[in-house]
Amino acid sequence: AAKSAGRNRYTRFSHALQDAMQQRISLSNDLRDALGLGQLEVHYQPIVELATGRVCKAEALLRWHHPRRGAVSPAHFVPLAEASGLIVDIGDWVFRRAAEQVRRVMALDCPEFQIGVNVSPLQFRNDAGMRKRWLAHLAALGLPTRSVGIEITEGLLLDVSAELTETLRRFSAAGIQISLDDFGTGYASLAYLTRFDLDVLKIDRTFVHRMDSHASDLALCEAIVAMAHKLGMTVVAEGVETRRQRDLLEAAGCDYGQGYLFARPMAGPALEASLRGARH
Ligand code: C2E
Ligand code: MG
Ligand code: MG
Ligand code: MG
Repeated sequence: AAKSAGRNRYTRFSHALQDAMQQRISLSNDLRDALGLGQLEVHYQPIVELATGRVCKAEALLRWHHPRRGAVSPAHFVPLAEASGLIVDIGDWVFRRAAEQVRRVMALDCPEFQIGVNVSPLQFRNDAGMRKRWLAHLAALGLPTRSVGIEITEGLLLDVSAELTETLRRFSAAGIQISLDDFGTGYASLAYLTRFDLDVLKIDRTFVHRMDSHASDLALCEAIVAMAHKLGMTVVAEGVETRRQRDLLEAAGCDYGQGYLFARPMAGPALEASLRGARH
């Protein structure tokens, strides 16, 4: 009996695994067509200057409206797009959407506005091509290069090759600002903060989330801000959800906040409407 119970458990387990794999494959196939079928959309989450309350930046975040499954999270489908290589085309598309969006926002009396796009390590495989396409697109729209920024994660910086240093340097030299996303969650050493030319450090929301209940997380946030400023970087806190977190961050000298307290990610027209409203 024990044996057959074990076998059942094994069968159930392997079925679950098979289902999960099949789901992954079918989702990955659907993703191939999603762009052409107009199922992908870019939303924008405002980033607020803490000292003034002004919205000076936003982050571009992908959304997928699947015809049967409904909204699929980027945390779920971006890894599939990376595995299939599709992220290169999708990433180019996000960049173009973000550039067109920032142009509309700048026309609303916000000439300094910047939209950040998330870039996967895979997109850096052919970075020269990517940089050329992106800079050409900005030029065609008549946009300054600082109007679009890129967000990379620590994982990318684990590759300590000379090529990567040079790659990021070229983006910086072109005037494209680089943010380090999800800071504090990766495994890279702090040495990369001086090795690479980074403009902005984004404190991961796990630290922000606990800063009003855990003294150690508050201390970490304060230390991160101080360190970043000494290295000439500005700081964005991610996932700000409460007034108290906002206040603690401002007291710590943090420059910007992003989170549900201020606004959720929203479609382009809603972003424009909220910026128009803020001026009156
Ligand atoms: P991320 O770059 O760290 O983006 C921030 C995530 O935090 C977003 O999740 C955003 O909706 C969420 N968030 C913002 N404020 C709050 C808050 O106050 N509380 C909580 N709990 N969450 C908040 P989202 O949109 O689901 O995106 C997840 C991740 O997917 C992103 O994390 C990014 O790594 C990836 N991603 C999204 N769009 C793209 C893209 O265009 N390209 C690439 N390569 N990755 C993307
Ligand atoms: Mg990001
Ligand atoms: Mg992040
Ligand atoms: Mg994060």
